Amino acid sequence: MRFTSLGSGSSGNGLVVECGATRVMMDCGFTLADTRARLERAGLSPSDIRGIVVTHEHDDHMGGVARFARRYAIPVYVTRGTGHWLPPDFPAVLVNYIDPHTPFAVGDVAVEPFPVPHDAREPVQYVFSDGACRLGVVTDLGTITQHVVEKLSGCQALVIECNHDLDMLMAGPYPFALKQRIAGRLGHLCNSAARELVCALDRSRLRHLVAAHLSQQNNTRELAVEALAQAACCERDWVGVASQDDGLAWRDV
Ligand SMILES: [Zn+2]
Ligand SMILES: [Zn+2]
Repeated sequence: MRFTSLGSGSSGNGLVVECGATRVMMDCGFTLADTRARLERAGLSPSDIRGIVVTHEHDDHMGGVARFARRYAIPVYVTRGTGHWLPPDFPAVLVNYIDPHTPFAVGDVAVEPFPVPHDAREPVQYVFSDGACRLGVVTDLGTITQHVVEKLSGCQALVIECNHDLDMLMAGPYPFALKQRIAGRLGHLCNSAARELVCALDRSRLRHLVAAHLSQQNNTRELAVEALAQAACCERDWVGVASQDDGLAWRDV
């Protein structure tokens, strides 16, 4: 099993998981041309993607899904709430509605959705597995729940939102209402909450820890890495960062 990030942040997210002969994309917040270019950088072409699992309808996650899926006839996996935001003329044959508590498979990739608190209609995040190893991904999480802790415990690889540094957010230029939304219970995880989440998990099998969805205004790579390194009691070089422009190179789990 291996994974790569095509890019992560408020301007677009996409991640590819590969188990055996199957590659699944999680979210697509990029234009068609940009998605193709980012896939090519990862050594992939659109025809390599067997399905797209979507977390929620925000543009940075779903903005490129319909166009890419339709163009290459790729099945899309969404909750009913998220699927509500697909364009009305999107081909029904490509839509697979999922239950936020029910695991499913796309080829060789086992996918476990789980619900998360975030200001969207029916948001989920995912754990992927090849039957032996687990990759847990959580971006766009307003609050840590016990359920999220249970789902991410025991994973070999984790991609965790480190959206903002709370002090940088509060001192920064955003309007007060937006600051409240981001820091609120249905907003985004700050560095110290990400640290708290990783501290609360069973990390006994953890081999890859990656910070994702960093705000370009309200965070730095160094602060996010420091928070996760503290939580995992590891060297800073061991923590990866999925960046907006470059994503994250393939990691073998
Ligand atoms: Zn997002
Ligand atoms: Zn969101």
